[in-house]
Amino acid sequence: MKAIPYGRQHIDQNDIDAVVETLQADYLTQGPKVKEFEDKFAEYVGAQYAVAVTNATCGLHLAVLALDMQPGDRVITTPITFAASANCVRYAGGEVWFADIDPDTYLLSLESVKQLIESKPKGFFKGIIPVDFAGLPVDLEAYRAVALAHDLWIIEDACHAPGGYFTDSKGVQQKCGNGVYAEMGIFSFHPVKHIACGEGGMITTNSEALYNKLMLLRTHGITKNNMSENHGGWFYEMQTLGFNYRLSDIQSTLGITQLAKNNEGVQRRNEIANRYKEAFEGRVKYQSLPEGMYNAHHLFVVEVEDRKRLYDHLRNQQIYAQIHYIPVHTLPYYKEIGYQGADLSHSEQYYAHCISLPMYPTLTNEEQDFVIDQVISFVNG
Ligand SMILES: *Cc1c(COP(=O)(O)O)cnc(C)c1O
Repeated sequence: MKAIPYGRQHIDQNDIDAVVETLQADYLTQGPKVKEFEDKFAEYVGAQYAVAVTNATCGLHLAVLALDMQPGDRVITTPITFAASANCVRYAGGEVWFADIDPDTYLLSLESVKQLIESKPKGFFKGIIPVDFAGLPVDLEAYRAVALAHDLWIIEDACHAPGGYFTDSKGVQQKCGNGVYAEMGIFSFHPVKHIACGEGGMITTNSEALYNKLMLLRTHGITKNNMSENHGGWFYEMQTLGFNYRLSDIQSTLGITQLAKNNEGVQRRNEIANRYKEAFEGRVKYQSLPEGMYNAHHLFVVEVEDRKRLYDHLRNQQIYAQIHYIPVHTLPYYKEIGYQGADLSHSEQYYAHCISLPMYPTLTNEEQDFVIDQVISFVNG
């Protein structure tokens, strides 16, 4: 059998044809495909606005800037995420405080966040960056209640979760990144994520004010909005110090055709997840699924006693399982700063045992059965 990675992009002929068409058209960047992708993406997640960016890391950076983050501002996030969720705070000179995860959902624990907030004076923290880890949505309605009580903003790092949703107290399905309970949602189009653009990202929001700021910051802080009759056609103003964080038309074209396949991909990911669960029930611990949630399943994470040995065992069978993630507060950069925050024992326990098994739409049942057999026989010793 050929090598089985933990994640893999799925590119069809219609993706290729669309990109070739854009390569032969007038605009390779700053053309119509960017806006088309933004509009379709906003509609898909149910948000009013979407801003395409170079990658999700740039998206997170612009998001904290659009919220006027100042040096010294304190933000709470989870240690069980990719470093970029925390790094955006550092780009703007802010302080990262970590709260612990829930040991069953692996999501940032609202209890731990609340304890941390309540241990400090009011106004101490500015915002929270929860992550829809592995594709499991955060209950943002509950987060919003805490944010309202403590005057905090919320950036939803939805990089793992396009197509996921939770059900709110009114019984409404709230799609990840729809901007109803968070100021902004952030998505990534790196090839291991659901939608592959090579590199790419999206910021979603329902706030026109944030949208306008994001658009300005994405293109150098430059706008033509104040052009009057007295100005020549070349007129523009740089109103603030922005960046070039644009996504190209080539990448946006791929994003459009990839997005059109996302529902199908998420369905297949859930089929694969259900097959894993059936096989592992009562034998291997996996991420729990709270009532009313739909997991978009970027990852399928299990916990085993001897994780290092399972990782090596699977490699020997050419199954390239991965670890998500080394807790961010233990990375040398953050260790040196000296992380501040809650007791993180659940995060550290999780990291000692977690391993992400292959999860992508084109994984065949046969390949998956091979993975399952290897895991079960390992666990049985
Ligand atoms: C992948 C990822 C990012 C960064 O995405 P890029 O597009 O590679 O910059 C940020 N947060 C999380 C949770 C991610 O998984």
